Amino acid sequence: MNTLFVVEFRQACQQKGCPFCTLAQQHTRRYLSRLLYEYTLAPDIHQRLAQARGLCNPHAWLLQYIAHAEQPDGVGVALFYGSVAERLHSDLQACLSSARSSHARRAGGSSLASRLWNCLQTEETCLACERQAESERYALTQFLQDLHDSGEEEGLVRLYRDSAGACLPHFLALLHESPSEQAVLWLAQTQMYKTARLAAQLQEFVRKRSLPFQNEPMGEERDSWVRVIEQMIGKRAVPLRRSDHRSL
Ligand SMILES: [Zn+2]
Ligand SMILES: [Zn+2]
Repeated sequence: MNTLFVVEFRQACQQKGCPFCTLAQQHTRRYLSRLLYEYTLAPDIHQRLAQARGLCNPHAWLLQYIAHAEQPDGVGVALFYGSVAERLHSDLQACLSSARSSHARRAGGSSLASRLWNCLQTEETCLACERQAESERYALTQFLQDLHDSGEEEGLVRLYRDSAGACLPHFLALLHESPSEQAVLWLAQTQMYKTARLAAQLQEFVRKRSLPFQNEPMGEERDSWVRVIEQMIGKRAVPLRRSDHRSL
């Protein structure tokens, strides 16, 4: 197995929350940083970003954050989004001139709003989401391979068992990778155990916030109200396509 991946997976399992979300965050951040450092003049990246009207909301703001933290002048973002803005301008211009043409007037039918709506649809999805999906798939399949090869007490699986476990979207994504029945059973039992523990921590949190018990010090339940959100929807700024996993 890829040694670098094992090191990264171990570190991700030692951090709070879903290790697959942590890996996705790290990989996407590295990818966006590389875009800013190495690809600001790459025509294919500019074209791809322009076709998608830039990145999705969380990834665009992550790009801005990285640029602010690492390249305070913002030139990389300005170069990329210059292409995005130019493409939007030319699409708007093309749509308006076609609507004004006599042919368009004769054709009637579609309103200007619907023409604009069609002109402004994106041809591509977010580039960072696409890369994130690839790296997530790699992590999920490597983990399942290890579960299959090494059993339930070894390697990545032992690291995973001691971690917070997969968030719900990544648990569903694991199921989507067609693991064996035995692996599914282990994953489901582990998920059930971790969910029961989180539910108990939430109960304890609420109990210690109620008047008669307010003097009791908080334990590991202290941040359970934040962790439960991560557990259900994934980490902040990790856009996960739950709809991909609606059916197997
Ligand atoms: Zn996750
Ligand atoms: Zn994205």
